[in-house]
Amino acid sequence: MNTLNKLVHAASFAAQKHTGQKRKGEEGEPYINHPLEVANLLANVGGVDDADVLIAAILHDTIEDVGVKLEEIREIWGERVAGFVLEVTDDKSLPKPERKRLQVEHAPHLSTEAKSIKLADKISNVRDITRSPPTHWEIERCVAYVDWGREVVAGLRGANPELETIFDEAAKLAYEKFKNLGQ
Ligand code: ZN
Repeated sequence: MNTLNKLVHAASFAAQKHTGQKRKGEEGEPYINHPLEVANLLANVGGVDDADVLIAAILHDTIEDVGVKLEEIREIWGERVAGFVLEVTDDKSLPKPERKRLQVEHAPHLSTEAKSIKLADKISNVRDITRSPPTHWEIERCVAYVDWGREVVAGLRGANPELETIFDEAAKLAYEKFKNLGQ
């Protein structure tokens, strides 16, 4: 398979695996919008043209959210892609607060490529929460989510300045929106 074929395969694979899954916002968008946005941010904002990174971005939630095995990713897309996906995958056997704490702790130790994926992931999540907050989330919880995203991103800085700027803008917009809602 050439590079483009592999990329298309990843998009189709992720779409199938995320079938029926929705984002947690009130709009309930199809989940696949998220990994595609992450890959698009990397390619067309972050200037990333490394196909393995873009493929890993498309696949980045398939282990964590829909139970794809690392081995399957390794067999189809190779060791490098599998490694990036693994780097941005939480250990689901741990309780949520611990996973969130570990993301902050691990961020500075990720490869540059995984840092960029994580940055784009955080941009997408902060944008989604701003545009379409989960229905059962109080404003405080939304603000706490953005605070935590900023803590993770603090450990990712230096990997991709363009994406860092876009993240800062997204966080600023989020705070403005939640501040207005809170008044
Ligand atoms: Zn994600």
